[in-house]
Amino acid sequence: MATQVALLAELQRVDQSLKCNTEAVEARRSALAQLDAQIGAQREQVAAAETAMAELERRQRELDAELTDLESKMKERRMRIARIRNDKELGVVRREIDILKERTGAAETELLALMEQVEQHRTAVEAARQALAAIEAARAMEAAELDATVARVASSIEEDRSRRDKLLSTVDGDLHRRYELIFSRRGGVAVVGVRGGTCQGCHMNVPPQLFNQIQRNDQVFLCPSCQRILFWDQQDEASKS
Ligand SMILES: [Zn+2]
Repeated sequence: MATQVALLAELQRVDQSLKCNTEAVEARRSALAQLDAQIGAQREQVAAAETAMAELERRQRELDAELTDLESKMKERRMRIARIRNDKELGVVRREIDILKERTGAAETELLALMEQVEQHRTAVEAARQALAAIEAARAMEAAELDATVARVASSIEEDRSRRDKLLSTVDGDLHRRYELIFSRRGGVAVVGVRGGTCQGCHMNVPPQLFNQIQRNDQVFLCPSCQRILFWDQQDEASKS
């Protein structure tokens, strides 16, 4: 019958495999969540760029209409001026034409500046859309990776869980609680081998008296330095020598 320490060592192998597999899935899930957040933010940027662009285009249409209107008014005044015989009336129409010219000049200046802005915004909108497409492509790849990872580790996780349940039914409850505590505090390594009189967890020498006791493998001993559960692996020692 396997000793409690040997059972713990086996439990640790299962727990490490479980930890590794669940962490692999978790890492994929969190990468996917991060990409989802990036997509949300980028969609907002695209929408903002499109809104700004629409506003500029609206103003552009307004100016186009204004210029058309000014042009027809100008035409009308010029036709009228040809028929005017009266100096006073002529002066009035000439002033009107001057004002129309001024307004036309202002509208044209604004339109030119606006067209330049529209060009810049078109580039910005396009860049924002491309960035969004790139993140969406990365997200699709990450989702496929997650599926592949889940498919790869699912059966292994299931096997490990049932193996773990079996082992736990044979491990002493207090010892298991102690093991869990060390496992979580010592980076997933609670049971360590002793090789050549050295703890393989912290690489400190184990006192010879303790080493002799450990070799009997019938009691649970903790490393005096790192407080991990020490396990003497006979095969380990044999393969070394
Ligand atoms: Zn140690």
